[in-house]
Amino acid sequence: MFPTKKSQVIENLINFSAKELSSYSKKRNYDLGPPHKNVSKLSPYLRTRFITEEEVLKIAVGSNNIKNIEKFIEEIFWRTYWRGWLESHPWIYDEYLNTIQHQPLPKKTGIKCFDYWKEELLDTGYLHNHSRMWFASIWIFTLGYSWQSGANFFKKNLLDYCPASNTLGWRWVAGLQTINKPYLAMSHNIDYFTNGRFHPFNQLNEQVNLNYIEHNSSHVIKFIKPNKIEFKNFDNLGIILNKNDLSLNNIFKIKKMTYECCVYSTEHKNKLVNEFNKNIIQDILNNNKNFEFTENFNQIVDWLTNKKIKNLVLPYETVGNKIFNIEKFKNKLEKLNINYIFLLRDWDRNAFPYATKGFFKFKKNIPDLINLTDIQI
Ligand SMILES: Cc1cc2nc3c(=O)[nH]c(=O)nc-3n(C[C@H](O)[C@H](O)[C@H](O)COP(=O)(O)OP(=O)(O)OC[C@H]3O[C@@H](n4cnc5c(N)ncnc54)[C@H](O)[C@@H]3O)c2cc1C
Repeated sequence: MFPTKKSQVIENLINFSAKELSSYSKKRNYDLGPPHKNVSKLSPYLRTRFITEEEVLKIAVGSNNIKNIEKFIEEIFWRTYWRGWLESHPWIYDEYLNTIQHQPLPKKTGIKCFDYWKEELLDTGYLHNHSRMWFASIWIFTLGYSWQSGANFFKKNLLDYCPASNTLGWRWVAGLQTINKPYLAMSHNIDYFTNGRFHPFNQLNEQVNLNYIEHNSSHVIKFIKPNKIEFKNFDNLGIILNKNDLSLNNIFKIKKMTYECCVYSTEHKNKLVNEFNKNIIQDILNNNKNFEFTENFNQIVDWLTNKKIKNLVLPYETVGNKIFNIEKFKNKLEKLNINYIFLLRDWDRNAFPYATKGFFKFKKNIPDLINLTDIQI
């Protein structure tokens, strides 16, 4: 289901746009099982910007009237919204990290749909959005496990693991994001939207009363946009690509600037995720023979020194995604006399300031946000 060559990802997206996208809003909530033709399965690529939101939407609007694909565009912006929201509520992620417990699941719970989705996630690294919602709800309200342990289970096994979408998705199901309004998995809804594949009647806890006292999400830290960078005066330019953005170099390529580039990645404990990550990076290396691969800080320092880098660009690191924005690394760069910036793409820069309240308010800005891109509507 998840090719690792960019050319194949684009070909699949072109097919999806031509054949499936016009009925996406009607069909997207059905989980009919793999290969999940009614949804795009783009999340592992968008998460790493192996393909960017702009690239996806250019292809989508190329074969569809924008009016007919509004729902899809909204979904693309959901991840942007969650990431922006977490930027203005960073302590929510720290709280999650501080309260993770490991709660091992029994091999079989006896709830067929839940056991199936668990296996599907372990086998493919993916779950349909509706099944993520049902799975999380059953985890919390029927099986009685903590939402944090569920979020951690997804974190370990998803190809598309995104700290913001995952943590806030689990909090939303748990009734913490929209306070005391949990998402309850209903057996008739599962029966309907799986086309009768599962019917867990009388197996789920379909009624809960929550009484959380909102204490931590009403406070907002204003998102301060980093300074816009001047692309002049960038001699001896180096770019480090990593899982936060595997195509940041294209900004410089379009401007016909010369640069050196390395791709940084470390082992993932999950074999499937590790293999996927390795293969998409290999595709980038195959398509760019002068890019180097690095897997630890010492190799990065050697690369910086060998290439005589004076100006270094790294992908901006949002909450939960810190790799290089740490004192140890920044001190090293200062010692080497290297200027550095963590570059926030305009896509995020324009959207994050609107992501402080609910998605309903945020989405009113989508037409303006699209107008700020070079997507031709
Ligand atoms: C409990 C829970 C945990 C989740 N964890 C993650 C995660 O770690 N990483 C992740 O990328 N998504 C996460 N999601 C959101 C969503 O389930 C996936 O993005 C979606 O299922 C990916 O499948 P797709 O690419 O086929 O989606 P499509 O329906 O084809 O949507 C296109 C793109 O829009 C974005 N998108 C769609 N729905 C959502 C959503 N609800 N929230 C955020 N972005 C969305 C994704 O980037 C997706 O690739 C989670 C949802 C829940 C309920």
